[in-house]
Amino acid sequence: MIPARTNLAGELDRLREAHLYRAPRTLASPQGPRPLIDGRRMLAFCSNDYLGLANHPQVIAALKQGADAYGVGSGAAHLVTGHSVAHQALEEELADFTGRARALLFSSGYLANLGVISALTGRGDQVFEDRLNHASLLDGARLSRARLRRYAHADPRALSRMLDALMLNETGARLIATDGVFSMDGDLAPLPELVPIARRADAWLLVDDAHGLGVLGEKGRGSLDHLGLGPEQVPVLVGTLGKALGTAGAFVAGSRELIETLIQRARSYIFTTAPPPAIAAATRESLRIARRESWRRERLRTLIRRFRAGAAELDLPLLDSATPIQPLIAGTARQALSWSKRLETLGILVSAIRPPTVPEGSARLRITFSAAHTAEDVDRLLAALSSLRQEVPED
Ligand SMILES: *Cc1c(COP(=O)(O)O)cnc(C)c1O
Repeated sequence: MIPARTNLAGELDRLREAHLYRAPRTLASPQGPRPLIDGRRMLAFCSNDYLGLANHPQVIAALKQGADAYGVGSGAAHLVTGHSVAHQALEEELADFTGRARALLFSSGYLANLGVISALTGRGDQVFEDRLNHASLLDGARLSRARLRRYAHADPRALSRMLDALMLNETGARLIATDGVFSMDGDLAPLPELVPIARRADAWLLVDDAHGLGVLGEKGRGSLDHLGLGPEQVPVLVGTLGKALGTAGAFVAGSRELIETLIQRARSYIFTTAPPPAIAAATRESLRIARRESWRRERLRTLIRRFRAGAAELDLPLLDSATPIQPLIAGTARQALSWSKRLETLGILVSAIRPPTVPEGSARLRITFSAAHTAEDVDRLLAALSSLRQEVPED
């Protein structure tokens, strides 16, 4: 029997039985390939700190200097007195980095997506999203009260058909939103095909490049640069700072009019305290390092090549991905969890990703690499994975 929704203990038991229960781990060390967890050094492949900047000495120094100069809390929302010269300078540098007129900081990627989608669309409008988009893009559409329609993953034809069926009798604004690099699959959105579709439908095209920024493209400029697309083709770019850039927060970049509109209308920008200015100071430093040190991206590519070659030899069920996100499909939540637990006994940490984060039947190990990993780390992971394959699956 499915327990009533007011019976929390019953609901929690049900999640446990379905292998869907989740709990945070507690780290007693900085982020990095070897975190200290419950008194144990693990070799971890689950962080989004792709460039290894979350614990970089220069970024830490910039954070300290930022705290000396501006204190800790920002004290107010950006539109009151929370916007410091560090925030302003970072916004200008992010605009320059992404080749756009302006950029606007948000406290997180989740809030950026809620803010931008609900500022650009509302009741009577239409939002089109890839089925595998990040939860924050889906929630942004829900919050906006626009009609949300989800198209088959990375399928421009499915989107095109959806738009064709609608265009005759629907008015109102349209927005197409997609991850640049899909967070749980590691593949790239078919952006060159989405651009003409958006143009034909007179729709906004929004790309959330949380996992491309810093990693792909010239100087880490992201998926759009990698695919040769600019602001003309993709007018709304969302980027996050807590992944490859190793700090915290997010931004939206675009035209002057877009950013001015967000300042007036994005509720998740207006009604929240600005991030600590020292975080902005630290991000300015990590952005400088990310742009300059291309060896970090080259190191990543080398590690990914080594891992994929080894995985192919072992005949592991990897998804087709050229990014640091390398998913290994388990199928059931139970199988993913059992693999993850077995790796843990070998001192290796890889998170099991289960529904509702991924569709039913596609539970997986989400393996991620960082420029801070070594070739030996990859080999140790491969050896551990090969021992998994020799086990009889549990179901
Ligand atoms: C992580 C992520 C976000 C959320 O960013 P936070 O800064 O962690 O809130 C948004 N979109 C995508 C695609 C992400 O992977």
